[in-house]
Amino acid sequence: MNITAAEFVMSNSDVKKCPKPDKPEYAFIGRSNVGKSSLINMITNNKNLAKTSSKPGKTQLVNHFLINKEWYLVDLPGYGFAKVAKNTKQRFSRLIFKYIESRPNLVNLFVLVDSRHEPQSKDTEFMEWLGINGIPFSIIFTKADKLTKRKLAENLEAYKKVMLESWEEMPPYFISSSSNGLGKDEILNYIEETIKT
Ligand code: GDP
Repeated sequence: MNITAAEFVMSNSDVKKCPKPDKPEYAFIGRSNVGKSSLINMITNNKNLAKTSSKPGKTQLVNHFLINKEWYLVDLPGYGFAKVAKNTKQRFSRLIFKYIESRPNLVNLFVLVDSRHEPQSKDTEFMEWLGINGIPFSIIFTKADKLTKRKLAENLEAYKKVMLESWEEMPPYFISSSSNGLGKDEILNYIEETIKT
């Protein structure tokens, strides 16, 4: 898939106000600073579509973008950043869960994790919740350029090992780098393949 048009539609803090679920939708989620905005900008060939920020917890809204006039890309709030006040954090979670539960057109949720880090319970528990609730998801391991090939392979193995304690098999996963474009084609191909079914 080649992205030729990417336009911002709207930002919402109330999921009821999101666009009508009449187009296939792909959402991106992850801990603050995982590289979500950079990845969205990379795959859409747009430097500024999603707002990158060194200020964690900035994106507190559900952001809809219309891609190729055909499907929605959704930038979800980052979760789990310690500097965000606890009640604000709870509000984020409620918004995220409400969003996920209320979108019948959600084809796939991309859960971003930093390829440099060991599995974090915040992420693995979230994925378990997705599994229990039948939400299709895949994992994107971000910032792969920051690791040697060998270290990346080691980290992936460690991640798989932890995942396979709760899952029969690994969910689909991708390795990405917004610095060198790694993973872009694979993610877009995956969207192209799943959008038809
Ligand atoms: P978000 O909070 O998840 O949206 O994360 P951002 O996209 O704003 O990225 C957070 C920081 O990580 C920024 O300083 C980015 O420049 C950096 N970053 C994001 N993706 C990559 C990547 O693939 N490689 C490297 N080296 N840095 C990245």
